[in-house]
Amino acid sequence: MADTLLQQRLRHEVMDRIAGRYAISDEVILAMKSVPRHLFVSEDQRHAAYLDEPLPIASGQTISQITTVALQTGLLKMEKGDKVLEIGTGSGYQAAILCELGFRVYSMERHKKLYLAAKENLLALGYGDVVLVYGDGFNGLPQYAPFNGILVTCGAPKIPEKLVDQLVIGGKMVVPIGEKLQEMVVVEKTGETGYTTTGEGFFRFVPMLKGTVK
Ligand code: SAH
Repeated sequence: MADTLLQQRLRHEVMDRIAGRYAISDEVILAMKSVPRHLFVSEDQRHAAYLDEPLPIASGQTISQITTVALQTGLLKMEKGDKVLEIGTGSGYQAAILCELGFRVYSMERHKKLYLAAKENLLALGYGDVVLVYGDGFNGLPQYAPFNGILVTCGAPKIPEKLVDQLVIGGKMVVPIGEKLQEMVVVEKTGETGYTTTGEGFFRFVPMLKGTVK
């Protein structure tokens, strides 16, 4: 799977533009410069991989716009070695970025087809350490909890309480909340049951849906 000099250059350029426009840490920009986004989309989308746009993937889902991924990853503010759960594996692109940041990554996907494709692709690209689970993200992964951070990459109708339960105290969840338009909400767990929320702007995500699809 090729990563040509042109693709590398386009990737660096788009990340430099985003770094110039938003306050995103160098670590996140660097991690994103090393993940070949074009290898997470189908061949007919590769030409558009370094445009800052959402792109279609299988099962009617989308890989988020590059800026959205950068902002959302930046909001997590985790440390190397932290345990992070992603809800919505999709292509596996975001999971690869979390890996590059040195986190211990778990990711859930409700579409079996996407789960299987992401598993194969992440392994082929050297991200075999990610623990991928086919299942409903509303339930989280109690068997692997607690997590330092949870990143939800689909729009939840409201704060998923079971996921808050699976955070360490002091842990953080970044989750887009809303129906048509979602507000990016940072949830910080302050005690056994308490948490604070902060709004971080509006985005558009595919919906977080209950159950799994075979
Ligand atoms: N992070 C992905 C973007 C995927 S889009 C990437 O980097 O490519 C959001 C994904 O969330 C979709 O694949 C969708 O199927 C998945 N999703 C929606 N509801 C879910 C749920 N309840 N549990 C797990 N995944 C879910």
